[in-house]
Amino acid sequence: MTFQEMPYERVDLAALCKVYEDLKARMEGAKTAEEAAALLDEHTRTYEPASTMMSLSSIRHTIDTEDPFYTAEEEFYAQEGPAFGEKVTDFYRAVLASPFLKELRKEFPPVFFKNIQMDAKTISPAVLGELEEENKLVMDYQKLQGSAQIEFQGKVCNLSQLAVYKEDPQREVRKGAYTAEGNFYREHKAEYDRIYDELVKKRTAIAKKLGFQNFVELGYLRMGRNCYDKKDVAVFREEVVREIVPIVCEMKKEQQKRLGLPDFKFYDDPVVCQGGNPAPQGTFEDTYRTGIEMYRKMSPLTKDFINKMDSMHLFDLIAKKGKMTGGYCSYLASYKAPFIFANFNGTSHDVEVFTHEGGHALAAFMASDKTRLRECAMPTLEGCEVHSMSMEFLCWPYLEGFYGDKADKARAIHLGGTLSFLPYGCQVDEFQHIVYENPDMTPEERNAQWAALDKKYRPWLDFESVPFYADGAAWQRQIHIYTDPFYYIDYCLAQSVALQIFRLMEEKGWQAAFDQYLAYTRQGGNDTFLGLLQKAGLENPMEKGSLKNVAWEAREYLTAHQKDLD
Ligand code: ZN
Repeated sequence: MTFQEMPYERVDLAALCKVYEDLKARMEGAKTAEEAAALLDEHTRTYEPASTMMSLSSIRHTIDTEDPFYTAEEEFYAQEGPAFGEKVTDFYRAVLASPFLKELRKEFPPVFFKNIQMDAKTISPAVLGELEEENKLVMDYQKLQGSAQIEFQGKVCNLSQLAVYKEDPQREVRKGAYTAEGNFYREHKAEYDRIYDELVKKRTAIAKKLGFQNFVELGYLRMGRNCYDKKDVAVFREEVVREIVPIVCEMKKEQQKRLGLPDFKFYDDPVVCQGGNPAPQGTFEDTYRTGIEMYRKMSPLTKDFINKMDSMHLFDLIAKKGKMTGGYCSYLASYKAPFIFANFNGTSHDVEVFTHEGGHALAAFMASDKTRLRECAMPTLEGCEVHSMSMEFLCWPYLEGFYGDKADKARAIHLGGTLSFLPYGCQVDEFQHIVYENPDMTPEERNAQWAALDKKYRPWLDFESVPFYADGAAWQRQIHIYTDPFYYIDYCLAQSVALQIFRLMEEKGWQAAFDQYLAYTRQGGNDTFLGLLQKAGLENPMEKGSLKNVAWEAREYLTAHQKDLD
């Protein structure tokens, strides 16, 4: 069956709530450990078809946010979802209170119990109304982002389509594109500020009702941070400032020289090579075919995986009006099918859809057959980003297929980009800590904080002269800040692990790196992030020194391949 043929029906959440009430009662009344374990299996069988329908609705809504049918479906789930979530959590509470918990812990991965214990603290009947309102605000933001119709160079672009011009080899075009984008945000400033302000206040109110001092602790619980805390994260951010920021500053000086610019503005930042960054050759269809072929050649496992994705049309790749921005990988449990969403625009972004989202999809494919508990199919999100960000490196030998003789350039740009991304990701993370620790800040105060963090993490960027950016408001572009608080440092932690895979590839060859990747990925979500790393022989990126080693290797490579960028 193809994605388009998959039937959709609204999940009867009220009926499902009753089913979970019954499951909970039976868990409480279970007479044996076997009976309790069987109820966990029943929970998986009950949840999967519902989650498939909800994923279908969500995917189809993001493909066309103007389609009234799926918009109504999403509004329904946003409204009724929290009450259902509370019922599932209530079932978890019964699992935790079971007299057979000891036996269950032997049969199912310990991380599951850790996670549901955390989950139980994030929701209660008292906050359902606020959770609904939070969901609605998130939808307001997505709608606003999707509504952008920006006129540029005689074309009407959405935000994804406009992004192409931000990498244009001509400086004036880049500056123009950033300015047009900035003007869009500025025109809608009141809306963007209102939505965020309400989100911060709403989330703070929820946290307080649940007994937390502020939203930070709740945010960590929601993200399932089960093996490190905000102190570890703060140490990591400082390591990034110490180990990575100086290297990126040097890289940027080289870049300015290479581009022959008298000064370096932030709109010069994306263009690494004279004449522009390499773009995939050929049509969108060519990029798609090359991506499919790459996984067919890579290994027998990846061949099975990509053949399934291809034959079931589990992709929606072309940017179009009304489509949500960005890219993601989702999962349709009943079909054991990953799904990849993107906005092809003719830049290296299109290749990343295969190298990055492809890694997520492969991990989902690998987990699909051997997971007894749906909760343990995938790790927490930083663990998932290791799947994708490491795959970006493992695809290096195949980049000629996309870029032809510009593949060397693409590899060096990718590696440099992973380094310059780390400070940005840490900036997004520190910003959110400040915001949620000071929920009464005004929009202007938030912007001032962001501008101050720019100086700490990205001192090479000069934002003067472009509205919106110069106002310190550029954080409003970052979807996660609105939709998934504290989901961002995940990318930095994962990138640091992916750099370990890169290092292995350099030192021991591709096969050794791929084997280690599989050793990690094969575990699905059967342990905490740090547990999974340890079992696969990878280092904890928050441990002192870990970052220094990978930064050194990356810098060596970039120095040796300086010429590739000329
Ligand atoms: Zn990802």
